[in-house]
Amino acid sequence: MISQVVKPAQVLVLAGTHGNERNGPWLLEHWRRQPEALQRHGLEVALVLGNPAAYTANQRYLERDLNRCFSPELLADSSRNEADLQRARQLLTCHGPDAESPSVVVLDLHSTTSAMGNSVVLYGRRPADLALAAGLQAELGLPIYLHEADASQTGFLVERWPCGLVIEVGPVPQGVIQAQICRQSKLGVEAALAVLAAAQRGCLKLPDELVVHCHLVSLDLPRHPDGSPSACLHQALQHRDWRPLRAGDPVFMDHCGKEIGLSLPSDLAGESVWPVFINEAAYGEKGIALSLTRRQSWQVGAEWLPALGAIAFQLV
Ligand SMILES: [Zn+2]
Repeated sequence: MISQVVKPAQVLVLAGTHGNERNGPWLLEHWRRQPEALQRHGLEVALVLGNPAAYTANQRYLERDLNRCFSPELLADSSRNEADLQRARQLLTCHGPDAESPSVVVLDLHSTTSAMGNSVVLYGRRPADLALAAGLQAELGLPIYLHEADASQTGFLVERWPCGLVIEVGPVPQGVIQAQICRQSKLGVEAALAVLAAAQRGCLKLPDELVVHCHLVSLDLPRHPDGSPSACLHQALQHRDWRPLRAGDPVFMDHCGKEIGLSLPSDLAGESVWPVFINEAAYGEKGIALSLTRRQSWQVGAEWLPALGAIAFQLV
């Protein structure tokens, strides 16, 4: 009988997945020079620049958004060879769960021009991800955006690792390093490592509830028939991420100064919705002026902690 040897695994900390988000890469350099804070919990951490070519060009990506390259179909399509897609394959080969030095958890650092504060983005309801997010929320009070069931946005990086989430911090302009953004990102990563180490030792305690903002829909700017915007974001909404909105609240303003109110489908009429990624600079090309979420409080599932524990047990 052949027994399967489980290789000791690392935590992958990725920064610069988008090449013009400079705060995460700055932090990688900080940790390389002062690794004590990362080593405190005894976990082996791989610090990796996500998209070096895009980072050198100070662009979000070269040909294709790296954080939309990770759908199994795209990765397997040998006729597609955009530079960013090749980088996605390389990341999986060198640092994926089946690599020579595997990583089973990925923390993907991003920054945003929106006033998201220090927040977590999840891309599904995997129990281990939810446990890690619940631990982070208990430790730092971070709000969580669950970006799921969005057919127009797929292929997110963290989905290809057994456990992973995005730490998203803003507002900060593209290409700019701000100490406060770096500090918030650092807090998020160090807290996540503390949660993973506690899960590995079997002493992680999760709260009873997790507050999650579940993706509902993304709104584009109103547009003229030729496709050009006929309105901009309303000034009352700028930097108001995570603040509830109701139907009729002003969201856009046209060239004449006329306010355009929020229209919601009938099943949401009378409810509050929570906006995220308001006026994110990188989402203009995606036709997203903001995304709306529904705020929910979930009971922490009995399977969450064991799921994270099983993954954390593989860590060095
Ligand atoms: Zn990003």
